[in-house]
Amino acid sequence: MRRLCNLMSGARFRFYAELNDFLPEENRGKELTRYFSVSGSVKDFVESFGVPHTEVDLVLANGHPVDFAYPVRDGDRVSVYPVFESLDISSVSRVRPTPLRTLRFVLDVHVGRLAAYLRMAGFDALYGLQASDAELASIVAREGRVLLTRDRYLLMRTAVDRGYWVRSTEPKHQLLEVVKRFDLAGSMRPFTRCLNCNTLLEEASRESVFDRLPPKIMDKDVFRVCPSCQRVYWEGSHHERMSKLLGWVKANLPLPPMA
Ligand SMILES: [Zn+2]
Repeated sequence: MRRLCNLMSGARFRFYAELNDFLPEENRGKELTRYFSVSGSVKDFVESFGVPHTEVDLVLANGHPVDFAYPVRDGDRVSVYPVFESLDISSVSRVRPTPLRTLRFVLDVHVGRLAAYLRMAGFDALYGLQASDAELASIVAREGRVLLTRDRYLLMRTAVDRGYWVRSTEPKHQLLEVVKRFDLAGSMRPFTRCLNCNTLLEEASRESVFDRLPPKIMDKDVFRVCPSCQRVYWEGSHHERMSKLLGWVKANLPLPPMA
């Protein structure tokens, strides 16, 4: 006969480093017990604490690395680690697929200024789509883009296998966060992409854009033009402000480790 006691199982979870950003203050840095009558994947358990799977790089169950599909069992001790920047975990396998060679982003409507800043730094940043959450998730899956959002629940969708929850509400700090998180300092190509439509710019002669220039900048020599929306770019005061911003980002990055 089936015993009536012990119908509830329990597993203990511990979240490390910045994953605690997602937990209420009283739960940070502590072992948290989750009771359950029906088991599920470790992804579902982790997200039931409010932590999107896209933030997680490594899960250990009872000291052994597991993938997101791992079914949580009674008595499990689960350790959940964020994307590591300097700690060496190369000897264990991560839950994350190998990083994309060239990162491409898609951003939801609430981080528009960040999208413009990323384009300014030369990164492919899709934005301005009237897309539902489901459509954004399918763009991530279909095009292999990284979703940048302030909506953590959007990151919990299974189709979103690459994403980042932008912590700051201030666009300048958001840019710094993204450059740090994805180690982008060495891949910035400032002023090579159209701020308006994300297309790569082409160099253009003064003659070819002459009829589109306001009189006071006709003395400039270097012009770039967007082959898609035809917008013309030149070095002006806007350019200077943007250069300062990128300089600020670089100055605030951690120093590379000593060789
Ligand atoms: Zn354009």
